[in-house]
Amino acid sequence: MLILGVDTSCDDTSIAVLRIVARKFEILSNIVSSQEKIHQKYGGVYPTLARRAHEANLPLVLVQALKRSNTNGIGVGAGAKINPRDIDAISVTIGPGLDPCLWEGVNFVKDLAYKFNVPIIPVNHIEGHILANWLPPVDENIKFPAICLVVSGGHTQLILMRKIGKYQILGETRDDAAGECLDKTARILGLPYPGGPAIAAEARDYGGLTSIVLPRPMLRSKDYDFSFSGLKTAVLYDYKKRSAKERKSKKYIQVMCAEIQQAVIDVLIKKTIRAGKDYKVKTILLSGGVAANKELRAQFQQRAKKENFRFQVPNPKFCTDNAAMIAITGWFHRAKALKSARQIKNLQAIPNLRL
Ligand code: AMP
Ligand code: MG
Repeated sequence: MLILGVDTSCDDTSIAVLRIVARKFEILSNIVSSQEKIHQKYGGVYPTLARRAHEANLPLVLVQALKRSNTNGIGVGAGAKINPRDIDAISVTIGPGLDPCLWEGVNFVKDLAYKFNVPIIPVNHIEGHILANWLPPVDENIKFPAICLVVSGGHTQLILMRKIGKYQILGETRDDAAGECLDKTARILGLPYPGGPAIAAEARDYGGLTSIVLPRPMLRSKDYDFSFSGLKTAVLYDYKKRSAKERKSKKYIQVMCAEIQQAVIDVLIKKTIRAGKDYKVKTILLSGGVAANKELRAQFQQRAKKENFRFQVPNPKFCTDNAAMIAITGWFHRAKALKSARQIKNLQAIPNLRL
């Protein structure tokens, strides 16, 4: 079976081709066209520009994804090239995400579905992040129940997962998402967008003990919620009280970045481990763009091992937004495929879709 995945939830246009043979997954292509450069000067995603870029990019990314599949597509119809007619189903992100961006993807796949007479499988982007943990190379034995921490640019959610498709949100951020906090604090410090990788690079270059102490918001609260806006404000206050010379100094930026990163890591790990113990889970799953962070991955791995949890995190390229995760989620939900012209016509983007 061949599934085409499409994601346009935010500022990446992505299309992937996933082949499934005897329940084995093979990613034939996963093209991500990033809009980082477009949004850099705004320090965040500009929805109208993002929509326009998706509109322009989608046909090009589709061609690239099909071409790449052909290079990798060993044995499809005895060496025949994949063309859109070979696709068995299209899975597309319908939410959550930015409304104009989601609609661009949804309308694009509606056209494809009519043209090639294939069903559409609607996918929740957050579930896509979680199920990125099943993409190859995969640990076949992800044991349930599991706790998933989804940390992305728009979401920070702690989710109890009893099986694929069965989720309970235990807690989430009350204000900024972890990635949003990294993006905003990076902006305060004059670092480029997206802030997460920029902060990680500064912190890595420093690599020492930090002399700045930032708060760890809600570290000890009894619930599973998060709050990151206080951390951002603390960074702003510290920055404002420094002299112009100090603000620009490499040392200040590096120490501050190391402390921001560690403050975020401390809160994420502590709350996730506590939820894991409270719900007696077997596995901890990490996902979302912030999960690409090396330090977070390493510290999580260490802590989970110490507490006897299995720990799983996708390859960094499947942590940030990508369509391979949407394709695999579509496969797990293939029974919910929309087949009739009427069902497909009625498909809607849902910007505030919940798990
Ligand atoms: P997503 O919304 O899942 O695409 O994730 C995007 C978010 O992940 C942005 O807020 C980025 O700043 C953040 N991010 C991406 N790579 C890293 C990294 N290596 N370290 C920390 N944050 C990251
Ligand atoms: Mg995302």
